[in-house]
Amino acid sequence: MPVIVYCSNCGKEIRRTPALVKKNRTGRFFCNQDCTNAWWEKNGGYANTGCPKKERAVEMAVRTFPLGEEIPIETIAARVRQQPGKYNLKNAGVARYLTMGDYMALSAPGVWVRVDPAEVAA
Ligand SMILES: [Zn+2]
Repeated sequence: MPVIVYCSNCGKEIRRTPALVKKNRTGRFFCNQDCTNAWWEKNGGYANTGCPKKERAVEMAVRTFPLGEEIPIETIAARVRQQPGKYNLKNAGVARYLTMGDYMALSAPGVWVRVDPAEVAA
């Protein structure tokens, strides 16, 4: 008798054997590979594999640049792609994370400057 679970991405009802449900350690189920990929994309991938989430990878990359230095987005994106997790983020994707964080400020179109969050807050 199958057990009804719900897709963690789209919420669709899916049927799984009790054995599969028992074996599942994450509590997440997906109706197909597309939903699996979509969910991981939304949740920063590799979240429970020891690799940093995208947001963290961006922050780690940024911290390798000195404070006050103006850095083109291309350079930042290239550095992000070298971080653990190897996220293939595009310039726009990186810029979105920079906007959310408090450690970079936009100094010119496409150019970011590393700031000290404590200084910004003061
Ligand atoms: Zn689904």
